Amino acid sequence: MSKDSLNRLRQNIEALDRKLLRLLNERASVSLQIGKFKVREGLDIRDPWREQAVFKYLTQYNKGPLKAGEIKEIFEKIVSISRRIQSAASLSGSNHSVESADADTSFAVTGETALYGIIGNPVAHSMSPLMHNTAFRLLDLDAIYLPFEVEDLSGALNGMKALNVKGASVTHPFKRRVLGLIDEIDDTAAKIGAVNTLSFGKDGIQGTNTDWVGAVRCLEVLLPIEGRTFVVIGAGGAARAVVFGITVKGGNVIIVNRSEEKGSALAEEFHCGFALLSEIESVGGDCLVNTTPVGMYPKADEMPVPKGVLGTYKAVADVIYNPLETMLLKEAEAAGCQVASGFHMFVYQGVEQFSTWTGRKAPMKEMEAVVYERLSRK
Ligand code: NAP
Repeated sequence: MSKDSLNRLRQNIEALDRKLLRLLNERASVSLQIGKFKVREGLDIRDPWREQAVFKYLTQYNKGPLKAGEIKEIFEKIVSISRRIQSAASLSGSNHSVESADADTSFAVTGETALYGIIGNPVAHSMSPLMHNTAFRLLDLDAIYLPFEVEDLSGALNGMKALNVKGASVTHPFKRRVLGLIDEIDDTAAKIGAVNTLSFGKDGIQGTNTDWVGAVRCLEVLLPIEGRTFVVIGAGGAARAVVFGITVKGGNVIIVNRSEEKGSALAEEFHCGFALLSEIESVGGDCLVNTTPVGMYPKADEMPVPKGVLGTYKAVADVIYNPLETMLLKEAEAAGCQVASGFHMFVYQGVEQFSTWTGRKAPMKEMEAVVYERLSRK
C-alpha cells in the first residue's frame, strides 16, 4: 500500500470518528432526557431488561465484520456511561454531566468540614465512601467521608477522637473487636455482638449496628419473615446481624457452618438450630441466606453450597454485593428461586447509618444508583 492510500484511509477513519463522536453525543443527550424522565416519574435509573434488549437488537442488526461479542463489548461501555449520565441527572437535577461524588472536586474542604470514615482492613474496595459522599453532596452538608485502612484498632479510635471525627463505619475484621474499645454500645449492637456504626461525641464513642436493618429490609422484599424458616450459611459478623434481624421479626433460623464450634455457639446464643455445612442436603427451609464470603470477587465462580440443594428453597439471598449477582444467585434463579443481592443490604445499612449520624433522611435512591453504577462498571 502506498503512503497516499494509507493517508486516504486514515482520513476516512477520522471522518468516521467525527461522525461517531456526533452520534455518541446525540445518544448521550437522549439518554439524559430519559434520565430526567425517570427522575420525574420516580423510576429506577437501572433497567437490566432494557439493557439486555439493547444488546439483543444490536446483535440482530449487526452485519459484521465486528463479531457479536465485540459489539456487546463496545455497547456495554456505552450503556454503562449512559447509566452514569442518568444517575448524574438524578443527583444534580440539572443538565450537566457530573461525575459521582468521589470525583467531585468542586466541594471545598475547610476547617469546619465534618469528618467521617470507614475503618477496616482492607478498605480499598469499599463502596461506602462513594455512597456517603454522594449523600453529603446531595444534601449540601459540609462533611466528607474517607477510607482508613487500619492495623492498630485502638490507636485508630484514639486518633479519630483526637481529630474530632464525627462518625465511622466499621468493617471486617473489626466489627467484634471494637466492642471492648468503645464507651457505649446500644442494646441492638450488644445483642448482635457486633458494631458497624460509630458516633463520636462528648461522652465518648457510641456503637450501634445497622447491618441487621439492611438484612431485614432485603429479606422482606423476598418473603414475609414471620413464621418462615431461614437457613443461614456462616456464623461470622454478617451472620450475627442476619440471624438477629430474622429472629426479631419472628422468623426461625437454622445456622449452617463449616466449623462446628463457631456455628453451634451462635445457634445456642440465638436459640436456633444448627447443622454442619457438610450436612446441608439434610437441612431445609423457605429461604437460604449466604453470609460467607464464598463467591465474592475475585473468586466469583465459587458457591457456598452445591447447586442441587437450591431448588428446594422458595428464595435465596446473598450478603455479597461484589459481584452484584453471585454464582449462587445465578444458579438459584435458574432453579426457580426468588433472589436478593447483598447490594440492597449494603445500601440499606448505609442509609440507616447516614441518618444515625446526620439526623437527616438519607437520599436512598441516589445512594443506590451511584453504587449500582460503580459495581456494574466492573
Ligand atoms: P467473618 O466474620 O469472617 O465470617 C465468615 C463466615 O463464613 C464464617 O462463619 C466462616 O466459617 C465462613 N466461611 C468463610 N470461608 C468459608 C468457606 N470457604 N467455606 C465455608 N464457609 C466459609 O466474615 P463477615 O464479616 O461475616 O463477612 C462475610 C461476608 O459478608 C463478606 O463477603 C462481607 O463482605 C459480607 N458482608 C456484606 C454486608 C452487606 O451489607 N451486604 C455486610 C456485612 C458483611 P468458619 O466459622 O468455619 O470460619
